[in-house]
Amino acid sequence: MGKKSRPIKNIVLAYFIFGILWILFSDILAGYMINDLNFYQSFQSIKGIIFIFVTGIFLYFLLKTNLKEITEKEQKLYQQAYFDNLTSLPNKRSLYHDLSNKIENSQKNRIQFTFAVFYLDLSDIDNLTEIRGYTHGSDLIKKIAKTLKNDICNHHDCKLYSYNYNKFILVYNNPGKNIVYQEEANKIIDKINNLWNKDEIDYFIDLKIGISTYPDSGRDVETLISASQLAASKCDSGNKGFQIYNHYLFLDKLELENLKRDLRTAIKKEEFELYYQPKIRCSDHKICGLEALIRWQHPDRGMISPYKFIKLAEETGLIIDIGDWVLEQGFKQLLKWQQKYKGQIGLSVNLSPMELYDQQKINKIKKLQQQYQIKKDLLEFEITENVMLDNRGNPLQILQQLKRLGFSIALDDFGIGYSSFSYLSRLPIDTLKIDKSFIDKLNDEKNMILIDSIIDLSHKMKLKVVAEGIETAEQLKTMKDLNCDQIQGYYFYKPLPLSELEEILEEEFKISKMV
Ligand code: C2E
Ligand code: MG
Ligand code: MG
Repeated sequence: MGKKSRPIKNIVLAYFIFGILWILFSDILAGYMINDLNFYQSFQSIKGIIFIFVTGIFLYFLLKTNLKEITEKEQKLYQQAYFDNLTSLPNKRSLYHDLSNKIENSQKNRIQFTFAVFYLDLSDIDNLTEIRGYTHGSDLIKKIAKTLKNDICNHHDCKLYSYNYNKFILVYNNPGKNIVYQEEANKIIDKINNLWNKDEIDYFIDLKIGISTYPDSGRDVETLISASQLAASKCDSGNKGFQIYNHYLFLDKLELENLKRDLRTAIKKEEFELYYQPKIRCSDHKICGLEALIRWQHPDRGMISPYKFIKLAEETGLIIDIGDWVLEQGFKQLLKWQQKYKGQIGLSVNLSPMELYDQQKINKIKKLQQQYQIKKDLLEFEITENVMLDNRGNPLQILQQLKRLGFSIALDDFGIGYSSFSYLSRLPIDTLKIDKSFIDKLNDEKNMILIDSIIDLSHKMKLKVVAEGIETAEQLKTMKDLNCDQIQGYYFYKPLPLSELEEILEEEFKISKMV
């Protein structure tokens, strides 16, 4: 705490007591000492004047010290309210205040006034703070603030604000056309890079700059700032970069937000449907299994690809409910096929990594198994290797439990991402699915050698190999020559709605019976 405020009440009380004592005793004393009435009257007048004089001086000093204290307090409050503690830069409130004034001036005076808002996102510093502690992170913030202020603001008509701990805003006055923004953004990036190059910081900071302009990107403070934030969020992660706001960014975001909203109610409104894509055995070209692939029939947008909405579902956590729905439908359908085709047809269901972080998943699967009593070897779960890239939960444990329960596991999309061979031994899998991206490059000799080795290695590890995305007879022949076990792709079948699939299955198994 700073200087303690003076106890004004005590001073006033002391003055009051002193005043009363002075009046009482000075009158009694004067009565004893002065006999001359005229002199007594003059003495009383002088005494009154002295009293007023002393009171005046007293009040003057009292007010002076108090006013000083009040001013100091006001300044302190102002500092706290309008400036950032850590960097001493003007803060968010100052920014809103200044921008509102600018906009108001421009609208009042009807002048074509432009300015640009540069949102500098250094969220990456949070990682540094987690590793090295708060002091290290905040020292770095101070260093960056100083660099931006000295090397950028002192040379341009711009002002730097601290927006949030690791976020800054630079407001450029009348910067002109986009080309100027780009130059400025590159200058900022260079300055931050230089800090790193000069060893002043030993941690490479990911900087994202989003730029919005008045009046093009928005005509009020909130809109301008959120436009710059949105632009920053569109910079490629892992890169220092900048993005200038345009209306399409907003529309994309709006579309995503609308989709997220609709996704929440899609299960209840029964807008999801399972399609099934047959898997073909290479040896006799017969259907040997099916993969369940979800479809979203949006009332306004039509069919939406899972490539688009599964990611959204993962971001919002809705994947847990969607995954549960898929599983329940899968079990239900599999039971019908089990009864009809006497266990000749199995089903694969995709599991998102997030579902494997759900501790309840195993219990839910056990419950479904008890309810539907399907033959366990008919159900396979498809996972991707990125289940291992996250440190949430214990996906490996869940996979092992699934195996112990008797279900099969397939590693999907092998060939994209890390495609680490070590996963083949670490994950408790039965099947390896080679991704379409490998199949698309079958003409490339090196790629062929790689696929040949993958299949060979998988077989040695007693894994079944499925090739995904086979579209041509040539691809089919090559994969058969390479000893692949099963094929999935448009060459045979696209994912089909249940009604179409039923016809195909009936035909297929009728023929099989006849043979
Ligand atoms: P995936 O599991 O690798 O499924 C294969 C995808 O490749 C499917 O796309 C399928 O339609 C497509 N495909 C199959 N053969 C061909 C071909 O010959 N050519 C081409 N161009 N594409 C082919 P789809 O149905 O759009 O699903 C995309 C991804 O969405 C799936 O990839 C899977 O990762 C995810 N997904 C689909 N359904 C579910 C689900 O129920 N749960 C979860 N968690 N993910 C799902
Ligand atoms: Mg799959
Ligand atoms: Mg796949």
